[in-house]
Amino acid sequence: MLGVWPRKVDDHMALRLELSEPRTTALPRPSKRLKQRLETTPVLVFWETTKVCPLTCLHCRAESISLAPPEELTTEQAKSLLTQFASFGTPKPTLILTGGDPLSRPDIWELLEMAQDLDLKVAVSPAVSPRLNEKSIVRLLELGVQSASVSLDGVQSTHDEIRGISGHFEETLRVIDTMLEYGLRVQVNTTVMSKNKTELADVFALIRSHGVRIWEVFFLIQIGRGSNIEELSPEENEDVARFLFDTSAYDVLVRTVEAPFYRRVSHQLATLPQDSMLGSTGPLYVRLKKRLVKLIGESDVKPNFKPVYTRDGKGIVFISHSGNLYPSGFTPISLGNVKSENLRVLYQENEVLNRIRNGEFSGACGICGYVDLCGGSRARAFAHFGDPLAQDPGCLYAS
Ligand code: SF4
Repeated sequence: MLGVWPRKVDDHMALRLELSEPRTTALPRPSKRLKQRLETTPVLVFWETTKVCPLTCLHCRAESISLAPPEELTTEQAKSLLTQFASFGTPKPTLILTGGDPLSRPDIWELLEMAQDLDLKVAVSPAVSPRLNEKSIVRLLELGVQSASVSLDGVQSTHDEIRGISGHFEETLRVIDTMLEYGLRVQVNTTVMSKNKTELADVFALIRSHGVRIWEVFFLIQIGRGSNIEELSPEENEDVARFLFDTSAYDVLVRTVEAPFYRRVSHQLATLPQDSMLGSTGPLYVRLKKRLVKLIGESDVKPNFKPVYTRDGKGIVFISHSGNLYPSGFTPISLGNVKSENLRVLYQENEVLNRIRNGEFSGACGICGYVDLCGGSRARAFAHFGDPLAQDPGCLYAS
């Protein structure tokens, strides 16, 4: 079965056979050292600094609001959290300040000063609003923040509709240009959903033309305000993953969130014979690829695939505005609270996190040979089945 590219639910058995047979190319596995690191120290810790945000985006995971709720971490509690980072030793996790809008937090500059004193590596994910201006961009850089991510979710009309503000698309591009001009590393985030799935090539070409070199594509999870938004089918996810693999041939680093099956698709495309995949492209892939070539031409370089082994709960954790520890921002299952418990101890000892790290999944993800490299979106499993260890229903192999 080696070389067959399953396209249907029934082909899941084919995948199992394929994986149980000798392969010309071994599936990538994390080194022992990396495995140990992911068991003891997260690589990325996302902290939802506040639920306050001036925007009310259609798909907002955080269901942002305009006034901070009383349970939000106080300045002292936030400082205690920053101190806890030091207990991880070296290398420390990277702290990503998200929200809501982190710049809406009145004490954000005080906290960034403390993070700088503690020598923490910090990235921010601010909302594009009047608060994100030349002055605040310079201040972020002065306080050691080297990268920032902003969201662009489609062409002008789609982006403005999703953000609920006319002119927000143009403002986002202006902010991106300013951040790049001042030397901030800029990542653009795009949440892919049914509404914007056909615009991905346009978004890619646009941000690339502005000089953005990191594109992170979030595959919608139906939680928060995104609960009623249409997500992609497993077949469409497969097509988008294949399209994203193609974009890796250009000079932009492409990553995904809540779509670890992208790694499985990329590995297959990078290692299986090309002619085995000719019949495997769905209409969405064909459309996106055609548009990409029309906008920026073919690349002279081959697409590249670099294995990554982190996933929700395995190298990645999320702390909510009230201090609850979650496997990710899209997996609201509380594993403890950093107001009263130590982040390092929770990360290392929590049973759910350990089971996620061990790949103790049910359904297709539990028997899939790609469990180390992929392991499925724990958030989508939780959103669909109420179980963070269930299979990822967004993957073609698990649908
Ligand atoms: S999502 Fe699950 S079934 Fe699909 S490739 Fe990943 S581990 Fe395998």
